[in-house]
Amino acid sequence: MYTVDSIAAIIGAAFLQAADTTRTIAHLLHDSRGVAVGEASLFFALHSPRSDGHRFIGDAYRKGVRAFVVDRDPGIADFQEASFLQVPDTLAALQALAAHHRTQFSIPVIGITGSNGKTIVKEWLYQLLEPEHRIVRSPRSYNSQIGVALSVWQMTAGHSLALFEAGISQPGEMARLAAMIRPTIGVLTNIGSAHDEGFVTTEEKQHEKGRLFEGADVIIGPEPWTGLLPNHLSWGSGRDATLRVDALEQDRDTEAQVTYRGVPLRFRIPFTDEASVANALTCCSVLLHLGYSVDTINSRLATLHPVDMRLQLKRGLNGCTLINDSYSADYTSLQLALHFMEQQRTGQPRAVILSDFAESVREPGQFYGQVAQVLRSSGIARAVLIGPEISRHLQLPAGIAVQRYPDTEAFLGQYHPGLFHEETILVKGARRFRFERIVAQLETRVHQTVLAIDLNALAHNLRQYRALLRPSTKVMAMVKAFSYGSGSAEVASILQFHHVDYLGVAYADEGVELRRAGITVPIMVMNADVSSFPALVEHHLQPVIYSFALLHAFEAFLRGEGLQGWPVHIELETGMNRLGFATVEIPSLARHLQQTPWLRVRSLFSHLAASEDAAQDDFTREQADRFWEMLRPIEAALSYPVLKHIANSAAIIRHPHLQLDMVRLGIGLYGVEIETKQLELQPVATLRSTIAQVKHLAAGDTVSYNRRGVIREESLIATVRIGYADGYSRRLGYGVGKMWVNGHLAPVVGTVCMDMTMIDVTQVPNVKEGDEVVVFGPGLPVQQLADWMGTIPYEVMTGVSQRVKRVYFQE
Ligand SMILES: *Cc1c(COP(=O)(O)O)cnc(C)c1O
Repeated sequence: MYTVDSIAAIIGAAFLQAADTTRTIAHLLHDSRGVAVGEASLFFALHSPRSDGHRFIGDAYRKGVRAFVVDRDPGIADFQEASFLQVPDTLAALQALAAHHRTQFSIPVIGITGSNGKTIVKEWLYQLLEPEHRIVRSPRSYNSQIGVALSVWQMTAGHSLALFEAGISQPGEMARLAAMIRPTIGVLTNIGSAHDEGFVTTEEKQHEKGRLFEGADVIIGPEPWTGLLPNHLSWGSGRDATLRVDALEQDRDTEAQVTYRGVPLRFRIPFTDEASVANALTCCSVLLHLGYSVDTINSRLATLHPVDMRLQLKRGLNGCTLINDSYSADYTSLQLALHFMEQQRTGQPRAVILSDFAESVREPGQFYGQVAQVLRSSGIARAVLIGPEISRHLQLPAGIAVQRYPDTEAFLGQYHPGLFHEETILVKGARRFRFERIVAQLETRVHQTVLAIDLNALAHNLRQYRALLRPSTKVMAMVKAFSYGSGSAEVASILQFHHVDYLGVAYADEGVELRRAGITVPIMVMNADVSSFPALVEHHLQPVIYSFALLHAFEAFLRGEGLQGWPVHIELETGMNRLGFATVEIPSLARHLQQTPWLRVRSLFSHLAASEDAAQDDFTREQADRFWEMLRPIEAALSYPVLKHIANSAAIIRHPHLQLDMVRLGIGLYGVEIETKQLELQPVATLRSTIAQVKHLAAGDTVSYNRRGVIREESLIATVRIGYADGYSRRLGYGVGKMWVNGHLAPVVGTVCMDMTMIDVTQVPNVKEGDEVVVFGPGLPVQQLADWMGTIPYEVMTGVSQRVKRVYFQE
């Protein structure tokens, strides 16, 4: 048990203010949004490149937190009842506390690192070892400098085994993680190419990863990397491997014939893809090391299931929003999921469907008391509790409507489609409750083609661009045309969460939709017209003014409403010749803006016509020069500062001196880098469909309308559930376009139909009805599809029709 006093001694902190220093501390926080049990929490004010945790002390204090670790005085006079522990480096203090906590336990600790597969190996080891052990593990992919500290902090006397992941992005980070994890068994999943993280060479990266294992009894993983480390148990096909893989036979699953310390063994792995087989062999090696028999290992392997770590956001029946987290139920991941729910700001009442928790609960009264607190503080209006334990022990305050069921069958037995209406529902259950059956009931099942949006990739891309900007440069994220096809409110919520300064939409309706979804960031509307003025004003949207006609009309409207000083943006025409004031209009515009009481100019901007094109760089420079000349008289006329901006995605990279006060980031956010290939962007959208039927056709048969797809030799043709009405262009017919099926590219045969397209899968092994087909996404870039169509990625992305369901996911 820790108190404020004992923690101060452990982290070497000085008291800036001491109040009730014998207070017991059970929870560590670094984000005021996650406060559940304020009284027993210690808040660490951490710094990130864009945010300073000291700013959230007030919020945490209001939520009952009374102990803080800070690196400076945050104005303690306002927080009389709290203790403040001062240290030079708050993150280092958090880590020192975790490292101290780790030393209190002598159970086996498995530390897992590697470039890919860490989370999967961790989750599989959890599934394989759970029958004998009470396991503490990193929640989801909590493997960062903060995540590891919080993971280690979860260790208690009841646990018999720990599984922790360690991820690093820069040289030097591993030593800090190693001090907290101190693995007794090290697992190295693999080492990918060096440049995907901040390393110069693969050797440097390998060396850094190896640091985690200093002091471990054994290091387990694949050749060649593992074999280079001391005390290793390596697997691979080479002679020197401790577990030598002699043969892999694949059919519906994989049979691995191996030799382990001279003894031949067989493992049956219920997967066939390379990554899963490798991860499974790593897990087998760990179990062999722990002394498990091959029979036990095989019977456990048979029960392994793929790990889907991502929180999925889906549209449900009756206007509901579903958050599918039917993969796990533990206290920390519940907090994370509730957090995700709050972040969505759907404006709908919130409901949860929760099962018994997976973790062994020794004091149910106390444990479920904490669960009740987090549910209450997350504003849950309704709870469906499934399972004997949670039904008995979870007592919720009167404001929350509760239904209790002994098991999933009992719930499904009385389920009817009208049960939920316009609610945001978190579905979260331990594996054995098989809540995926509940999700299937709650989902709208329509067309099987979906556009999957990876919200982590979106945040990653934003970080990539921000790294190129000065810290003071603001970001306007362009979310026009349903965020380039990726969906409005969900994307905007994430961008708001990551503190973009502005959002940009094309039309007022788009802005109104965002406001209705609870988006509060300032929104610029590029193309407002007279009919949209009432909506603009009602929803606090900021129009672009690009002509005197629009200027006078909007002022007349504001005058009628009695509104003064409405925020607007002024667009200047510098060469795009689309919208904007011309050079000759500038003097009178400046005079007008100087004296108008109705408007307040927030920004002056222009748009580049060819920022991605090196052949047009002279023109881009001319545009920039013209921009400066035009804005100077206006700036001089105004008595207040205004933002200036001209750069879009390509200009941020190609014309860095044009970042000015703000940039307008569009296509790059969605993972497409036009022309330059300097960033490591991740594709945000994946357009997927499924195969409805597979046919054997003979030479001379023809496919699709007008018989234009002629079969030359015996072929296997698959019909895919996507057509031009979904945005799959007719220009992709006759072999021009290809789709990605089971790891192969399959060309389109014949004409693309309205709702279906036929592809030739003769060369693709094991194709069957129901198989997934990727139209674009990781593996088949949208740029490639655009090239086939003779267009640009912008058109392909925005052309995915609204009948295609959007699903969102996030780790
Ligand atoms: C769409 C748009 C952008 C974003 O352009 P990208 O090339 O997608 O980065 C920026 N400014 C204006 C005015 C736009 O219309």
